Amino acid sequence: MTFLGNQIAVAIGPVVLDDVERSIKKRCSEPAVISVRQPLCKSHFIRDFESRVAATIKKYKLISKKDRIVVACSGGKDSTAILYLLNKWFGNVTALAIDEGIPGYRNLTLEDLRNFCGRSDIPLKVLSYKKAFGFSLHEALRKVTVLPCNICGTLRRYLLNSGARGFTKIATGHNLDDEAQSIMMNFFKGNLGLAARLGPISGVVEDEKFVPRIKPLYFCYEKEVAAYAFLKKFGIRFNECPHASVSFRASVRDFLNGLEQEQPGTKQNIVSNFLRLLPKLKKRYAASASISHCSTCGEPASNGLCKACSYVNSLRESLQVKSFRKSF
Ligand code: SF4
Ligand code: ZN
Repeated sequence: MTFLGNQIAVAIGPVVLDDVERSIKKRCSEPAVISVRQPLCKSHFIRDFESRVAATIKKYKLISKKDRIVVACSGGKDSTAILYLLNKWFGNVTALAIDEGIPGYRNLTLEDLRNFCGRSDIPLKVLSYKKAFGFSLHEALRKVTVLPCNICGTLRRYLLNSGARGFTKIATGHNLDDEAQSIMMNFFKGNLGLAARLGPISGVVEDEKFVPRIKPLYFCYEKEVAAYAFLKKFGIRFNECPHASVSFRASVRDFLNGLEQEQPGTKQNIVSNFLRLLPKLKKRYAASASISHCSTCGEPASNGLCKACSYVNSLRESLQVKSFRKSF
């Protein structure tokens, strides 16, 4: 039990280790391995976790029989967990990964993902910044001073959407912690229009070039996903992107983790209350959120030029990129 706690604590902080050490027997005679909502043994935890994900898919009608699902994968715990579950329940899923070019990190998580997909017989498609845009994130950051996640998040969403063309839904590994962070980040920045795009299924307006995103792990805490991935022995690393710590998200994450420790249930309350507001937000912002198409690449854009092309244009000179190479 301590081993499990130590492994997961590496990824998400010491709180789980405390939970594990405090764990007691309940429900059955097996020792508890995790105590987030209640102390649970391994098999009851796995059953509880999977039934919560299945209930989310059912309640929010995230997947229908006609859907062709692609899973946005990083090789980390969250996306591997949802890749495993959707493949187990629905079959015929494809993994789509983006290689941003982050030495010492993405090459390792992609190695884990290739191994996992190979063992599970899941097709894997990998797109890279280098091939698509002409530069890796590492090269871009050596030339320009910009917060890594700002540029990376934009380019990543762009490639995921264009790489998912032909599929009807993109499943992502966003968990309850991620969603609580995104809600608060948008509130703090005064971006209610962006908050309206959140929820178990993303988007405010429909566009034939925009592939809807679904979040089946929406009601699972990050520590629960970490425990699930560990107990299921997915053979992945629990490491974090070296740039994550300098992002605004990291500040909000630390803030919410502190609040959660003082007041357990904070993240859950943020998400539940947000879901009550969401229908009104979507209605309010659907009218003003129109999607046009980028004058350069033809992908969905809210203005004449999409954000990816705008970044690429501004980087082109300093990186001596000749042209925007679309290679999906
Ligand atoms: Fe990109 Fe930031 Fe995510 Fe790292 S943490 S992969 S830089 S968006
Ligand atoms: Zn564009």
